[in-house]
Amino acid sequence: MAEKSLVAGPRERGLFCNRTLNMRAIRAIGYDMDYTLVHYNIEAWEERAYEHLKARLVALGFPVGGLRFDPKAILRGLIIDKELGNVVKANRFGYVKRAFHGTKPLGFEELRSVYAREVVDLSEPRWVFLNTLFSLSEAYMFSQLVDLYDQGKLAGTHSYSECYEITRKHIDLTHMEGQLKAEIVAAPEKFVDLDGDTALALLDQKSAGKQLMLITNSEWSYTVAMMTYAFDRFLPVGTTWRDLFDIVIVAAQKPAFFVGRAPFLEIASEDGLLRPTIGPLQKGKAYWGGSAGDVEQSLGVSGDEILYVGDHIFGDVHVSKNVLRWRTALIVRELEDEVLASDAAQRELSELGGRMAEKEALEREHCYMRLLLTRLRAGYAAETTSGSSESELVTEIAALRQRITTLDDEISPLARRASEITNPSWGPLMWAGNDKSHYARQIERYADVYTSRVSNFMYATPFVYLRSPRGTLPHDVAPAPAPGAGAYGAPSTSRLR
Ligand code: IMP
Ligand code: MG
Repeated sequence: MAEKSLVAGPRERGLFCNRTLNMRAIRAIGYDMDYTLVHYNIEAWEERAYEHLKARLVALGFPVGGLRFDPKAILRGLIIDKELGNVVKANRFGYVKRAFHGTKPLGFEELRSVYAREVVDLSEPRWVFLNTLFSLSEAYMFSQLVDLYDQGKLAGTHSYSECYEITRKHIDLTHMEGQLKAEIVAAPEKFVDLDGDTALALLDQKSAGKQLMLITNSEWSYTVAMMTYAFDRFLPVGTTWRDLFDIVIVAAQKPAFFVGRAPFLEIASEDGLLRPTIGPLQKGKAYWGGSAGDVEQSLGVSGDEILYVGDHIFGDVHVSKNVLRWRTALIVRELEDEVLASDAAQRELSELGGRMAEKEALEREHCYMRLLLTRLRAGYAAETTSGSSESELVTEIAALRQRITTLDDEISPLARRASEITNPSWGPLMWAGNDKSHYARQIERYADVYTSRVSNFMYATPFVYLRSPRGTLPHDVAPAPAPGAGAYGAPSTSRLR
């Protein structure tokens, strides 16, 4: 009999559901490759991307030769403020809860004075959302250029926006030129994080009758190298990664792939020779470019019968959901650490919750005593003061204030530790202070499900019916405190004035 413990999988490897998804109703599943089917060692990949970007900037005369990449400095889901040279973390409403100017954190007062009147609106060109793990090198180089600009060391650069545009242009070229990819292909063992269960999850889906597609923005030769390295060793003898997929599409140009009508070219030979093609896509073949509309037509499936699985919140998930109403799954590898860290911190989090409840009760009492004193002094509603004199009320109010201050001193370190879970500078990916982060909000809106890696579909099985939990509103039963509780490294408690 099958081992039951293998059925569920560990909690951090769950499929978390925003909108009910019946996998039995899904007839085709499209997969992104980079950071979805193939996971990279982030530090190694991004460090190489950073070094290639740096070499380009050095060649242009930028004084960046001595700079180093810091893989912990940036999280995905943060937002670049091109106008002010900042990287910020916003909550679900777009309010900025933490910020760095260049590589230096903004203090609480500074943050307030800069962002009190601003709301992050990603449709404005001022803001750049860091959509993927490929954004880490770019965002950190931007922050370092901001430092150099402030020091007057970037002659010829006239604004923070320009610092960003230079970085963007050259990271783009870094990804497109052959050198970086050639390095990865030459030593995939340094960069690819293998997971044999991914192949098993795909075999399960295929055997359960799903049509599988690979839809990647990567070019053919790089795709072949990565897929061969990451999959073939785990597949039944005599088969390769090509046998997993009904259709393979490279150089897809997502997000345009989901909205445009670009023609497909067929990959006619193993070395990537392209030839024009007409008519529906044929199973077993590989294509270059094209569009999602033609995929739907060729497979004869409609939007809600296709699940697309990717790691790019905009290019993979937002657009496919908004334009085509495909079902969507977002891959967020950081979730594993985040779930484990917040589970480990549960004892402290519930202690924090208990202290906050105590504080709220004292604050209510404090407010009421102040009201009684106000009434007494103004000479009305004397019956409500239950005979207390002015000096008695003043003494009681001072005592309450003292108890609250003492409690604040206990809350501070608890709240600070909660706000540093997984990353001391930025806190958890999914939380901003006491509220959901902007990234978490994007996930809620566009990803029907989210999970740390593709192999988690193996635990769920191709037959699972995923149901979303009932949402909560402020008037529902009090929720547990958030792992990100406490804004900006300080307790989210307001000291009494
Ligand atoms: P996918 O995630 O499988 O669709 O592939 C992502 C591809 O886009 C990889 O080949 C990356 O190297 C590439 N890529 C990531 N960021 C950039 C960029 O800023 N400019 C150009 N290509 C990029
Ligand atoms: Mg990807």
